[in-house]
Amino acid sequence: MELVLEAEALGKRYGRSWALRDCTLRLPAGRVAALVGPNGAGKSTLLHLAVGLLRPDAGAVRVFDQVPYGNTALLAEIGFVAQDTPLYRELTAEELVTMGGKLNRRWDADLARRRLAQLGIAPGKPVGKLSGGQRAQVALALALAKRPRLLLLDEPVASLDPLARREFMQSLMGSVAESGTTVLLSSHILGDLERVCDYLIVLHSAEVKLAGPVEDLLDRHRQLIGPRRVDDTPIAGVAAVVKASHTDRQSTLLVRADGDPIDPSWTVRDVTLEDLILAHLTDGGSARASHEAWGVPA
Ligand code: ADP
Repeated sequence: MELVLEAEALGKRYGRSWALRDCTLRLPAGRVAALVGPNGAGKSTLLHLAVGLLRPDAGAVRVFDQVPYGNTALLAEIGFVAQDTPLYRELTAEELVTMGGKLNRRWDADLARRRLAQLGIAPGKPVGKLSGGQRAQVALALALAKRPRLLLLDEPVASLDPLARREFMQSLMGSVAESGTTVLLSSHILGDLERVCDYLIVLHSAEVKLAGPVEDLLDRHRQLIGPRRVDDTPIAGVAAVVKASHTDRQSTLLVRADGDPIDPSWTVRDVTLEDLILAHLTDGGSARASHEAWGVPA
């Protein structure tokens, strides 16, 4: 299995607080990976470490088996769109495409022009006068023109309305399906990622809470509903209880299954990606804050 990104006990600190801590990950090639977590979880920090804009304070990160920090050769392999799609607003899309050709050794200007034409984006208009959705598309077209092997997108759709979000994600998926590029994109909005990603990384308070192929993660977790649980005696078939909620009479548990049959006295249900993410983000006292940060009623 070819690995695109590997982090080992990776950490980044600002003063005394860790923006990312003890992060261990392995992202295989060809995946579309969602990096999710509330604001301030450490998503941008991880992406900036991966693209070499930040230097780790602990552990290590490798991209295509190389250290990113200060590695200009590696930059040619990575497309990176920072948060809020920073572009020179007074330049036109066509001028940005031409400029990209001067700054990058490998540059597929035709690809960028074709994409923009297909999307009906005026090549001669200053990008500052385009809509937010169109600007995001210009930034994506420029990132794809590098023909990167890894595409990192930091909250690419955060500022877009729901329709523009859907269009952006669809066009992104169309182009990565063709090229086989590995994608790592962050979002604090669950719905944007659910249909498109096949790999999930959940970050919360600087720590990785969950990471793996979506299919495996869904397969390994279950929701259990039964009479109120009064103690922590082990349940057959359950490796760990990730989250428990109780009413007077009933307990609902999100559990990691161990592969054996689950105690038949519980009603067992499959979980959704949203159940899984929220369960890993809401431990104890942080439950309300996490729900609010995710725009989900507590
Ligand atoms: P996210 O992208 O998930 O919103 P970030 O990676 O931007 O989170 O931030 C993680 C934490 O690091 C936050 O607490 C943030 O305030 C802090 N942080 C990020 N950048 C800086 C910086 N340049 N100086 C100080 N603190 C920072």
